[in-house]
Amino acid sequence: MATLTARQGRSVVLLEKDHHPRFHIGESLLPGNVELFDRLGVKDQVAKIGMPKFGIEFVPPDLDDRSYVDFSEGWDPSKDSAWQVRRSELDELLFRHAGKQGTLTLEGAKVRQVDFDAEGAVVRAVLADGATRTWRTRFVVDASGRDTLLANKLKSKQKNPDHNSTALFGHFRDARRLEGKREGNISICWFEHGWFWFIPLADGTTSVGAVCWAYYLKARDKPLKEYFFDTIAMCPELNDRLRNATLVDDAVHATGNFAYSSTHATGDRYLMVGDAFTFIDPMFSSGVFLAMQSAFDGAEVVATALDRPAELPAARRALERRMRTGPRDYSWFIYRVTNPTIRDMFMHPKNTFKVKQGLMSLLAADLRHGPRYRLSLVMFKAVYYFVSVLNWRRTYAGWQRHRYNIRDIGPLKGETILKAD
Ligand SMILES: Cc1cc2nc3c(=O)[nH]c(=O)nc-3n(C[C@H](O)[C@H](O)[C@H](O)COP(=O)(O)OP(=O)(O)OC[C@H]3O[C@@H](n4cnc5c(N)ncnc54)[C@H](O)[C@@H]3O)c2cc1C
Repeated sequence: MATLTARQGRSVVLLEKDHHPRFHIGESLLPGNVELFDRLGVKDQVAKIGMPKFGIEFVPPDLDDRSYVDFSEGWDPSKDSAWQVRRSELDELLFRHAGKQGTLTLEGAKVRQVDFDAEGAVVRAVLADGATRTWRTRFVVDASGRDTLLANKLKSKQKNPDHNSTALFGHFRDARRLEGKREGNISICWFEHGWFWFIPLADGTTSVGAVCWAYYLKARDKPLKEYFFDTIAMCPELNDRLRNATLVDDAVHATGNFAYSSTHATGDRYLMVGDAFTFIDPMFSSGVFLAMQSAFDGAEVVATALDRPAELPAARRALERRMRTGPRDYSWFIYRVTNPTIRDMFMHPKNTFKVKQGLMSLLAADLRHGPRYRLSLVMFKAVYYFVSVLNWRRTYAGWQRHRYNIRDIGPLKGETILKAD
């Protein structure tokens, strides 16, 4: 967003509370990201730090079965790959690039307060040395991620009632990976309390995490590291791949606070992008893509707000719609993934009515194929509902299990990074 608005010739200040390079989770990217990196002018740099990723492996629980799908099976076979990246490297690269494109970048500058008035806003930040600095600005973009700075201030953040999960994760050396071209693919392994990601990085380490229902993390009765390894043991395939692996830095992380949305993303003088607006379960690695896409779309709205204010209401309405479409499309699948019918469709995807092509375009974040793409998703859903009705008993059991899994178990602690003991 900073790069794009600076390119419009504006005076842009980018405030980051941390210092790059800093740790961040969310390492698996999608082919849809590649085009956006290209438009930013950083594609070659990202390629240098990335592990090539051509598709997804799905591993079901309790079954000696695997499914491998390739991004090239989507509507556009040329959108066939992406990368797995260390976020500390990617995020630093994007931050420095914004600086080179004309943004004033400040690290160790934590925004504490934003006050709006008729002219724009006053933004107050505390710097690393404890000093406070204030900026008067015509427009504020909140890209504060899951800190949701503006949504907290405006009390517009709402917990997603249809999803309630948490994550435990760590990095491993010497994990056994897939072979050949599939080495860099993400593996998604389902287990009783949720699902695991297995993300191979370019430097030989592998990111492994369990996204589990909130009740499961809440029930933890032992040190985090032990609980993490016990959780891994529930997934025989993953356990086997990690048999000779070692946990990097002995560090296990836990995070709660999953799945929310702000009631709105835009105001006359502000915009929330990425996780600052909404967060959905990361099963399909859509977070970075949705965040970047919202920045590209949002940059146009900033230009409208500052240069053609009469057009702003219509531009805001269009952006609000766009920012909900992507998360809604992914969420439809995420909410149903505990259902055996949809699991079968993932495990053995057939291309009848082009449903596999539609699914693969969505999983590649290659979303611009107009009506034929939309129709293939509609057909996927039609097949799903048809098979679900035919198997109504297991559909009902799956629905009941989902309700049970997302039951409210009270507040969980926010993000905690715990050194394993
Ligand atoms: C467990 C887990 C696994 C995930 N896996 C994936 C994945 O594999 N692929 C994927 O695409 N996505 C994944 N995601 C989602 C992904 O991490 C996010 O969607 C993505 O990082 C959102 O980008 P963003 O720019 O909106 O926010 P962030 O990347 O979080 O950036 C926000 C920045 O704002 C800074 N900040 C916050 N508050 C302030 C403040 N007050 N003042 C100044 N600076 C501030 C933060 O330090 C941070 O640098 C995952 C998320 C989780 C929780």
